[in-house]
Amino acid sequence: MKEDYYDILGVSKSASAAEIKKAYRKKALQYHPDKNPGDAKAEEMFKKSAEAYEVLSDPNKKAKYDQFGHAAFEGGGFGGGGMNMDDIFSQFGDIFGSAFGGGGFSGFSGFGGGGQRRVKGSNLRIRVKLTLEEVANGVEKKVKVRRKVQAEGVTYKTCSTCNGRGQVTKIQNTILGRMQTAATCSTCGGSGQILDGKLGDADAQGLKISEETVSINIPAGVEEGMQLKVPGKGNDAPGNGIPGDLLVAIETQEHETLKREGDNLHYDLYISIVDAILGTSKEIDAVGGKVRIKLEPGIQSGKILRLRGKGISSLNGYGSGDLLVHVNVWTPKELNKEQREFFERMQGNENFEPKPEKSDKSFFEKVKDMFS
Ligand SMILES: [Zn+2]
Repeated sequence: MKEDYYDILGVSKSASAAEIKKAYRKKALQYHPDKNPGDAKAEEMFKKSAEAYEVLSDPNKKAKYDQFGHAAFEGGGFGGGGMNMDDIFSQFGDIFGSAFGGGGFSGFSGFGGGGQRRVKGSNLRIRVKLTLEEVANGVEKKVKVRRKVQAEGVTYKTCSTCNGRGQVTKIQNTILGRMQTAATCSTCGGSGQILDGKLGDADAQGLKISEETVSINIPAGVEEGMQLKVPGKGNDAPGNGIPGDLLVAIETQEHETLKREGDNLHYDLYISIVDAILGTSKEIDAVGGKVRIKLEPGIQSGKILRLRGKGISSLNGYGSGDLLVHVNVWTPKELNKEQREFFERMQGNENFEPKPEKSDKSFFEKVKDMFS
C-alpha cells in the first residue's frame, strides 16, 4: 500500500498550494542527501516527499489524485511514481531557485566552462508490466513512445542574451545565504541556442512529437519498483543538446501458483494421504512450463523439495535461485462406510503412530535452513 501524499508532506487535504510548497521545502531540507550522507532512510523520505510534491503541486495531477488516489497514476503514462534523483533536483529550481538545482549533486553542469553549454532534453517515463516468466528469463519489450524530436530542417543560432551559455549570473538571497547563482536564461530557456527562423509544424523550440518504437532489454531478475534507463530515448533537447532518457518503471504480475522470494520461487503442492503413503509422481508449475517430480513413499507433510536452478536468474548474472516445493498432505473430511471401517481398523495400529526421526525437522528448523 502506497503512503498517502498528504501524509508524507504532513499537510491536510485542504492545504493551499503555498502550504504544500512550504511543507515540501521543509521535508526536502530535512532529508536532503547533503545533510544525511549515506542515510538510506533519509534518501527514501527525500524521494517520497519529492514524488508527493510533484503530484500535489500540479493542479491537474492533484485533482486526479484527490479523486482516484494512487490509482490515478497506474497503468502507464506520466505517473507520480518512481522519481530519480536527477528529476528531483530539476524540480528544485522551482522551490529553491537555481542555487540548489541545475545539475544534480555535482552542481552546475557546464557552468564556468566558458564554452557552449549542452542542455539535456527532458526524461520520459513509462511503466512496463512483466509476467513471472519474463522476469525469470529476461525479455526484450518493444514499446511505443511519443517523444519530442528536433523537427527536420530546423536550424539554431547562438542566443545573444547569454552568449550561448544558457545561464545568466546573478546574486541571489537564498535559504543558504547570499550566493552567486546562475539563473536559466529566459530568452533561450537554457539551451544557449534560439531558433533561426520558425518552421511550420515545430514548436517554439524547434521540436515536434514523433511516435517511435523503442526496444527495451529487460534483464532477468528485475523486481517490482525498479527503474531502468534507456539513454537518449527521452525528449530531444532544443538547440542540438543531448536527448533525455526514457525511464522504465518495472511492474510485475503475480503468478497464479508460484510465489517469488528473492531469486527463489515457492510452490504449494497438495497430495492425498494415499499418495503420501504409497509415493507418486506429480506435475508442478515451474517457470516456462510444467516439471514432473517424484515423491517417495512415506513422504511427510511439510517436507520441502528443492529443485536447484529452477528459480529466477539472478540480476547480477550469477546463477539462478531454486524452486522450493512445499508438500502438504491433504486429509479428507468425509469418508464412506468402507473407508471409515478401513481407517478404524488402522486406528491405534503401531505402524500408523508418529515416529519422527531426526531427519524430519520441525517446520521452524526448516525455515531456518532455507534462509541460511
Ligand atoms: Zn540564452
